[in-house]
Amino acid sequence: MAEGTREKTAPLVCPVFGAPVKLPANVLPTYRDVMKFYLQTAHTLTEKQKKYRSSFTDVADIVITDVISIWSKASVPSVSYKRAVHLLKAYHTKFTNLLKPYKDRKDSDSYIGRIDTFRCEADRLFDICSCKCPDINKCTCDKSRKVPAKEIPFLLDQRGERKMIIGGVDVKETKRIRKHQKRKAAESESFRVRTEKMTNLADNIDNNIMIVDYDNDDDGDDPSDISFTIPPSPKKPKKTQMRVKLLATAMACNRYGL
Ligand SMILES: [Zn+2]
Repeated sequence: MAEGTREKTAPLVCPVFGAPVKLPANVLPTYRDVMKFYLQTAHTLTEKQKKYRSSFTDVADIVITDVISIWSKASVPSVSYKRAVHLLKAYHTKFTNLLKPYKDRKDSDSYIGRIDTFRCEADRLFDICSCKCPDINKCTCDKSRKVPAKEIPFLLDQRGERKMIIGGVDVKETKRIRKHQKRKAAESESFRVRTEKMTNLADNIDNNIMIVDYDNDDDGDDPSDISFTIPPSPKKPKKTQMRVKLLATAMACNRYGL
């Protein structure tokens, strides 16, 4: 009976990150990319689970699994699943704190400035590289965490100008990284079970402050809710078998029409 109203719900355009979209397939995602995908996943999952709002843990599981698989595709070793989820959790908390309360402040110049700053800072790499050496060319990490020499230029590009894209998959390197990640995933499983309760508790707090509300229930709309629109999908970069330099403009800030 409530089915009809549910089908009409549409994802909100987030006041910070704009329209939710999938992860880009051929670059290492930025914080902005990850959050846009987080919002999309949260929307999809909320509809699927028929919940008021899906938990951070459920959404982050899908998001981080995909993010790690992109890193793996790029043959750049990443931190464990658990650590990547922690990184996302910390950022997600900052994001929700920025947006609470949104409605009362949204017209204030200083608040708009804070949102702009947050948005621009989100254009940096969501860096889950396992090597944290200050100079990657003088890396002292063990073999499992070391970035292969031929991938270093790509990683440095992704941390900086972001003009390159992921090309052909290095099968051998990918296999080695997958094997390592499998072991790490097994290690992190027990941690997940232990922390799930805690995270769920935190989610309950989240649920009270999250501004991105996907569920218009029958009991009337709150007129102060942010109205939403569905903008056209962003253009996808063309597939290529090689790493190629893209025009700087193509990768610029308004890549998603923000
Ligand atoms: Zn290192």
